[in-house]
Amino acid sequence: MSLDPAKRVKGVWAEVLDLLYPGICQVCGGGLTGDRSLCEGCVAEVPGLKEPFCRRCGEEFDGQAGAGAECPNCRNLTFAFDFARPAVPCHPAILEMIHGLKYSRRIELAPELGRVAVRAFEDDPRLEPALAGGWSLVPVPLHRTRELWRHFNQAAEIARPMARGTGLPVCHALTRVRSTGNQTRLNRAQRLKNLKGAFALSKEGAKLAGGKPPGVVLVDDVFTTGATSDECARALRRGGVQKVVVVTVMRG
Ligand SMILES: [Zn+2]
Ligand SMILES: [Zn+2]
Repeated sequence: MSLDPAKRVKGVWAEVLDLLYPGICQVCGGGLTGDRSLCEGCVAEVPGLKEPFCRRCGEEFDGQAGAGAECPNCRNLTFAFDFARPAVPCHPAILEMIHGLKYSRRIELAPELGRVAVRAFEDDPRLEPALAGGWSLVPVPLHRTRELWRHFNQAAEIARPMARGTGLPVCHALTRVRSTGNQTRLNRAQRLKNLKGAFALSKEGAKLAGGKPPGVVLVDDVFTTGATSDECARALRRGGVQKVVVVTVMRG
């Protein structure tokens, strides 16, 4: 072998990773290399958002394209963010991967989920200003106790490959100042109440906001009721960020 030692170490490391996490497509079980979790064929089977979809929450709804920009649910709501753009609608394979990442600590699934999230930027022209302006990717934070249990914050793990795919920087601009428990059984109103004042700017966030950035991209795994995104956006706007848009891997 004529590779220089550094490159050889990198190659060996990649092989070790392949041994630890044998690259297997999460859908068809086909063999994969590197940090892929879905093969090209199965990735292509995951559709993007279909028209018409809500321009505020990304929910697909019945009706003619152009019949209205908002789903019936959003018509009566106000959000502190401009819009939320899930990359894909609810899809069983993606949902299973997100659950694997969150509840089984399968951190090796994060790169593929981040790549799926990048599709939002490719598919939606409303995200062009973020790309052109170099807006920061801001992961929704976890409370410290939850992060200690999980060992990582899934939103931050998804934001990292998104940064590679988009060229945008990651900024951990938010902290969760109190624990909000598991929200899966709460409805939207209960979630909003539960989340009130749960987020604040971190030191890094205060620095970012002090520079009066035109906008930031809030990153999360799933967009469900929008309560978490809304409360995060509120904290960012309070700090001086003018515009918050939300990008998630999937619509819940
Ligand atoms: Zn496959
Ligand atoms: Zn909507």
